[in-house]
Amino acid sequence: MESHESDVLALFRDQGPLSRTDVIALSGLSRSTVNQRLSALTAVGLLAPIEGGESTGGRPSSRFAFHAERAVILCADIGATGFTAALCDLTGTPIESTEQEIDVWDGPEPVLDAVLDAFRGLVNGVEVWAVAVGVPGPVEFAAHRVVNPPIMTGWDGFDIAEWFAPHFDAPVIVENDANARAVAEARVNRFDNVIGLKLGTGIGAGLVFNGQIIRGDKGAAGDIGHTRAAIVDAEPRECRCGSFDCVEAYAGGWALQRELAAIGIETTGTRDIVDLVARGDIETVRRVRAAGRIIGDAIADLVSILNPRAIALSGRLAECDEVLMSGIRERVYQRATPLVTRDLTIARSTLGALDGVIGLALIASDAVLASDALEAVIERTPAR
Ligand SMILES: [Zn+2]
Repeated sequence: MESHESDVLALFRDQGPLSRTDVIALSGLSRSTVNQRLSALTAVGLLAPIEGGESTGGRPSSRFAFHAERAVILCADIGATGFTAALCDLTGTPIESTEQEIDVWDGPEPVLDAVLDAFRGLVNGVEVWAVAVGVPGPVEFAAHRVVNPPIMTGWDGFDIAEWFAPHFDAPVIVENDANARAVAEARVNRFDNVIGLKLGTGIGAGLVFNGQIIRGDKGAAGDIGHTRAAIVDAEPRECRCGSFDCVEAYAGGWALQRELAAIGIETTGTRDIVDLVARGDIETVRRVRAAGRIIGDAIADLVSILNPRAIALSGRLAECDEVLMSGIRERVYQRATPLVTRDLTIARSTLGALDGVIGLALIASDAVLASDALEAVIERTPAR
C-alpha cells in the first residue's frame, strides 16, 4: 500500500506524541520510510521533536508531537441573527474568537463584509491555511455554495469561496452549520455515529455516520426543520420557508416568538425565550416543552433508521436544557425501536458556544492535511 506523509501525520493527530518506534509499529512502514516521512514533516514544521522518550546518550530526540500552531484556520459560524468568528489551530482548538450580531436576511455581501472585518481583527501573523464558513442552510460542499436555502434570501447560488478568494491565499470551505456541529461532537467525543441538532432561530440536523458527514445528493440531508410536523393544528401554520406546518413553524425559535407575541409576550430573539424559561414563566415553559415533543417526533424515525450513538443538542434554544430535552427524549424513546435506544444518549453538547467553529476547523484541517494538499505544502515550504 502506498503511504503518504498525511498517513503518518494522521497517527500523531489521532494519538498524540509518538516515538519513531511507535510510528513503525503503528504504520507498518519500514524504518527508512518512517525516517523520511518524519524528516519531511519536521522540515515543514508540522511535527516537532520533544524531550523524553527512548532517546539516550546524546542522540537526537526520537519522540515527536504534532505542532498544531504551525498555521491557523479562520472560521466563521454564521447563524440567522449573528456569527462567531474564530482563529483555530490545526487541531480545531479555538485560540481567539469574537461574536457579532447580523441579520442573515440582509444577504451575503453585508454579512461576509462583517465576517471579513472580524477575520482581520483575529489574524496574528501566523500563516492562514484555510478559511471555513458555516451557514444555516443547505450547502453544495464541492461548489462552496448555499443552495436553495429556505430562509437565506439572496444567498442562493452565491459562491462564498470566490468572494473570499481575493482576501486570503488559502482554500475556502463552506459547510452547513449543523454538519459542522455534528463533526465536532463526533470527533471530540469519539462517537462514530451521531446526530447533531442545532436548535436556534431555526432547526437543523447534522448527520455523521461511520465518521463521515451524510450530505445527500444536493446537500440537503438532515434539514429536518422543513419536514412536516407529526401533529399539526387544525389551522395550518405558515412557515418562513413559504410552506405550511413545517417542524420549524411549531418548534423553531422564531415560531415560539410568534406564539408568545400572540398572547402578549414580546421577545426580541431566542435568547429572551431562554431567559423566560430560566425565570419559570409558565406560558413559555409550556410552549418550549411542546416544541421538544415536536422535535422528538421529527427525529424518532430518523433515529430508528440510522441508529446513532448520541444526539447532541446545540444552539441557543438548547440552553432551555431539560425543559426542551424532556419532550425530545419522551418522543424518541416512545417511538424509536428498543434496540436503537438501548445505549442512545440525548444530551446538550458539552462543547459550549464554540462547537460550530470547532467543527469547521476540524473539517478544514482534514482538508488541508489530506495527502494532496499536504504534499503541496511540503513542496512550497523551504527547508528550515
Ligand atoms: Zn418550512
